[in-house]
Amino acid sequence: MTICVLGSGVVGVSTAFALSRAGHEVIVIDKANRIAAGASHANGAQLSWSYTDPMASPAVLPKLPNILLGRDPAMRVGLGSNPGAALHLAKWGTQFLGQCRNNAFRKNKAARDGLAAESHAAVDSFARDLPSDALQPTGVGKLVIAQTPRQLEEMRRQPNYLSAEDCRDVEPALASWSEPQYGGLYSPDDTALDTLTYCTALSDLAREQFGVRFELGQEVSEIIVRRGRVQGVRTIDRVLQCDTVVSCLGMSSNTLLRPHGLSLPLMAVRGYSVTLPATESAPRISVTDLSNKFVFANLGDRVRIAGFADIATSARGQKSRIDTLLQTARRVWPGIADYDAPPHGWTGARPMTPSGIPHIGETKVHGLYVNAGHGSLGYTFAAGSAMRIVDAIGAVQ
Ligand SMILES: Cc1cc2nc3c(=O)[nH]c(=O)nc-3n(C[C@H](O)[C@H](O)[C@H](O)COP(=O)(O)OP(=O)(O)OC[C@H]3O[C@@H](n4cnc5c(N)ncnc54)[C@H](O)[C@@H]3O)c2cc1C
Repeated sequence: MTICVLGSGVVGVSTAFALSRAGHEVIVIDKANRIAAGASHANGAQLSWSYTDPMASPAVLPKLPNILLGRDPAMRVGLGSNPGAALHLAKWGTQFLGQCRNNAFRKNKAARDGLAAESHAAVDSFARDLPSDALQPTGVGKLVIAQTPRQLEEMRRQPNYLSAEDCRDVEPALASWSEPQYGGLYSPDDTALDTLTYCTALSDLAREQFGVRFELGQEVSEIIVRRGRVQGVRTIDRVLQCDTVVSCLGMSSNTLLRPHGLSLPLMAVRGYSVTLPATESAPRISVTDLSNKFVFANLGDRVRIAGFADIATSARGQKSRIDTLLQTARRVWPGIADYDAPPHGWTGARPMTPSGIPHIGETKVHGLYVNAGHGSLGYTFAAGSAMRIVDAIGAVQ
């Protein structure tokens, strides 16, 4: 019988592709009129196989006073728009702080490393099914720059540490980097590719070769469950019958899960991006500015600059955050992009769990699966998460 995949973000599209390739009949339903219109749309474009640190880490704790006072350049915390939201923030925040302990950080990082490795293998296998250049990265390699002596100290112990001079050899465009640069971590296997390009390639093949139906502009109002089993989904104007639903609804997951007594510990961690025409001095590889929490990614003839982590804030302050992102990027790394061109500003909310580990698998409702909570690395984790759903449901014999 048909599997309904709810959501056509990078997680939903990857899940639909993997399930249809495994022989299932799949329908994807999204309330937006186009695929990847939510948090996946104009993200940092990183397939960050090697650099998977969760947001909850011991390094956050000393920054906490500045974050809470609104003085941290990269992270902000809102107050919650109503008492319910404030209570949720307090509960989520307490769980998040628990995950910042050394032991929890190490455990979560190992789990994220494992999922990233599965994802890397899965993207390679997806690419073999697609036309040869469909998933061709636009940037190969990633450098995380140490901008303070403390960051340098932490990086020096790592096997992929490079001195400042070696960093400039790997990425000559760093000659125009204006901030302190003490060295960095280099991951030659990490790549950049616009997430929308990835989603379009996968959804086209899923539609044309595996017969996946995309029902766009259809808001799902209910997952229909009778006697503990999935029976179908209700959209605004009709009911689709199915015995299996995979909910890939990112930050909207709980709206449809709650009526069935399910709830994921999700927090919206808002980020922003600008996409600008690249100049001849644009970097070839991706570069992460750890202090400002920015990533600079090569998208061929464009440069994507993405960053900030605003917890429980609304999209209302979007314009001023995008202006700050643009001004800071121009100051930190002038000359790499045409900063005077219209910047194509964007904001999206990362669906973040306190641990940074997504929820993937069947729920207590028979036939209802979730694939959500991928936080800061949803693009990186999407293909591996999709394969875990295929493993959980099984392939068609
Ligand atoms: C600024 C920024 C930079 C980032 N950079 C990176 C990066 O470089 N690398 C990386 O790996 N990750 C990155 N991420 C994280 C990544 O983008 C997210 O984790 C990922 O997009 C989550 O995907 P998703 O499919 O779960 O959610 P979404 O993309 O939000 O998809 C959910 C979909 O559900 C649909 N939907 C919601 N409710 C309903 C309903 N009732 N009925 C029907 N449809 C519905 C929405 O329309 C949406 O299309 C970044 C995120 C941000 C914000």
